[in-house]
Amino acid sequence: MNQIKIGKFISEKRKEKNITQNELSEMLGVSDRAISKWENGVCLPDASNMPQLCKILDITINDLFSGKIVDMKDNEKKLEENLLEITRIKEQRDKELLAMEIFISVIVSIIMLACIFIASFINMQYWLRIILIIIGVIPFVIGISYAIRIEQIAGYYECEKCHYKYIPTFKSVFFAMHYGRTRYMKCPKCNKKSWQKKIISK
Ligand SMILES: [Zn+2]
Repeated sequence: MNQIKIGKFISEKRKEKNITQNELSEMLGVSDRAISKWENGVCLPDASNMPQLCKILDITINDLFSGKIVDMKDNEKKLEENLLEITRIKEQRDKELLAMEIFISVIVSIIMLACIFIASFINMQYWLRIILIIIGVIPFVIGISYAIRIEQIAGYYECEKCHYKYIPTFKSVFFAMHYGRTRYMKCPKCNKKSWQKKIISK
């Protein structure tokens, strides 16, 4: 999948339809900077914008990913290639998200420990200690919730018993016992509780 080629294709099709970048951005409810980023191959449109974009440009999703109008006879092959590529991009993004989860968790933990350490060992007024601890705990609570949210949506969990792969609810991830990213949860398929491992590909 070639972002530059896709970008040029979007731009070409947009001009064919006599639509300005500005008009297209209004139709899709995105900024005109987003359109220019797509067209310059800086990034791809969000999946949520793709169906509408294709409809406006009068192309198929498959054409969009191929960066050209795909011949009917090549259609199936191209579709397969594109689906594989989309899976690869998703896996890559999930890996990045999981790396960010660690980064966020480490940073907010350091902030909290530093605040608690200072509040405990340095001479200061009582109320100042309390405020310092609050300052440490708030980013920790927000950061960790955010990190768990990332862990919930990036990749899948695999049931230890029936090997079903799925995305659980935030609540079940949040309240589950865990070591690392392996969490003790109830599988939605076999309904048994077991240690469910985080995996990237389905
Ligand atoms: Zn199961």
